[in-house]
Amino acid sequence: MRVLIAGAAGFLGSHLADAMLAEGHSVLGVDNLCTGSMRNLQHLKHESKFEFLEQDICLPFDPKPVDYVFNFASPASPVDYDRLGVETLMVGSEGTKNTLEIAKKYGSKFLHASTSECYGDPDQHPQTEEYWGNVNPVGPRSVYDEAKRFSEALTMAYHRYYKVDTRLVRIFNTYGPRLQGNDGRVISNFMMQALKGESITIYGKGDQTRSFCYVSDEIAGIIGLSRTDEHLPVNVGNPTEWTILECAHAVLRVTGSKSELVYRPLPKDDPTQRQPDIGKAKRLFGWEPKIDLEAGLKMSLDYFRACIEAAV
Ligand code: UDP
Repeated sequence: MRVLIAGAAGFLGSHLADAMLAEGHSVLGVDNLCTGSMRNLQHLKHESKFEFLEQDICLPFDPKPVDYVFNFASPASPVDYDRLGVETLMVGSEGTKNTLEIAKKYGSKFLHASTSECYGDPDQHPQTEEYWGNVNPVGPRSVYDEAKRFSEALTMAYHRYYKVDTRLVRIFNTYGPRLQGNDGRVISNFMMQALKGESITIYGKGDQTRSFCYVSDEIAGIIGLSRTDEHLPVNVGNPTEWTILECAHAVLRVTGSKSELVYRPLPKDDPTQRQPDIGKAKRLFGWEPKIDLEAGLKMSLDYFRACIEAAV
């Protein structure tokens, strides 16, 4: 196949590019580098089956025929989408439309990277795909949440009205090498703080929960979904739920750090709980994650150490 990956210089996009190349496909990676980094693609510089196009997908472009379009382009950490609010809304609307147009034009299969943020601050726990969510449409997270919800609606519309062969993956918190060291997310902050011997910043009381998936498990789930004919959303994440305090202690154990914990205000609309019900992914393509949090953190240690050395 010839595969287009929008957002290829990002955390998940670059791992997906590696996985597609390993399967023998050709990859056209597209990114405007607003949050992605060429560092994530440096190892592909001499890979003949990899092409890169620096392009904002909010502007129409013609990649020539492609068999599969993966749309992973968007700022995705709360710090990044807060800084790039309007850009986030535009890439989740104009950008998604342009990638859907490519799939429509060339008859390509299509997979859109959606998010557990579609569930907002959920009052159903764990979250199944049937749950419609509890999203503040005007709060600080709305630029991301509503962009992703609009992208889901647009993807379903292209499927229903134009028969584009689409898929929607709802990605829960994912971590591992190539997460930006300074993206402000909990795993990157805690790992960087612990390795530098700085205080670990717990927002709120640390009793809010997240469920963390190691990147190789997440990519395996996304590829599993890409091979099905399921058009409605599918959760892909690790269902083991951790409080943020438990997560901080896991980071301290894995790093052997003596950093102290400090408490900071909880950001507005920070979801109190997050846990995927992955029954649908298991039924449809036999997927479940294999790597638990401490094992995944250990596999990420060298990467975060390198981030500190490179000061990123
Ligand atoms: N968090 C924290 N300390 C940090 C960064 C994040 O306590 O230094 C908390 C944050 O308030 C949230 C959770 O960790 O409850 C996950 O935050 P993240 O930004 O990783 O992603 P989210 O799941 O909120 O999109």
